[in-house]
Amino acid sequence: MKEAQTSTRLVLPYGDSRIRCEVRRSKQRVKRSIAIHVEPDGRVVVDAPLQAADPDIRLAVARRLAWIHRRMVEVENRQLVVTPREYVSGETAVYLGRRYRLKVVSAQGGNQVRLRAGYLEVAVSNRSPETVRHELEQWFQARAKEFLPTRLAMMSERLRWVKAIPPLSIRRMSRQWGSCSPQGRISLNVGLVRVPRECIDYVLLHELTHLREHNHGPAFYRLLDRHLPNWKRTKARLDGLAEVALIR
Ligand SMILES: [Zn+2]
Repeated sequence: MKEAQTSTRLVLPYGDSRIRCEVRRSKQRVKRSIAIHVEPDGRVVVDAPLQAADPDIRLAVARRLAWIHRRMVEVENRQLVVTPREYVSGETAVYLGRRYRLKVVSAQGGNQVRLRAGYLEVAVSNRSPETVRHELEQWFQARAKEFLPTRLAMMSERLRWVKAIPPLSIRRMSRQWGSCSPQGRISLNVGLVRVPRECIDYVLLHELTHLREHNHGPAFYRLLDRHLPNWKRTKARLDGLAEVALIR
């Protein structure tokens, strides 16, 4: 039997983002309640009875926006902690918070990794998992060494108390995204290049703020609030990505 069902779209603003829902009205839904689900792929689905009025549906969704957003971030984070296991075509690699399909091809010249239209292409003369993994690791390290200093320079310029771009080291860190020494040297986790840009900016701002406030006191958080009003949400997102820092 074909289910009597209609499907419409509903878009609601939430902070600086928009939440898009698919509203499914169904005769089979005898209960009068409206149910909201965040699917494993991140889609938001609202199940409603056939006769439910638009304003009622909108209100039901509006009341649960914070919950929906939290679930969506969880889903997104889950998708970002994936990493290749066998280093073969079809697996997923994550760069700057975006998923790329891995494509392993035979190299004509030397080994090479490059991004092309949604793919992270690894050209290698020897397609063993160790070689592919090594090439990818080198590529991520090179991207980190290119991207993070540029971003640090941009953030430094925006902050009055930063008189000169601080010395930076980029390395593997197993427990932290970044740190700032008492001498003002900033260290960043090479794994940062896998997380979304907004998360990178949060870490940079956090460490640069330590140049002025060494401790996490009220003055420190006042500066974060002023320069990145959404920092708590971004930090929560980054906390959910802790595994990424450990991925090599
Ligand atoms: Zn800190």
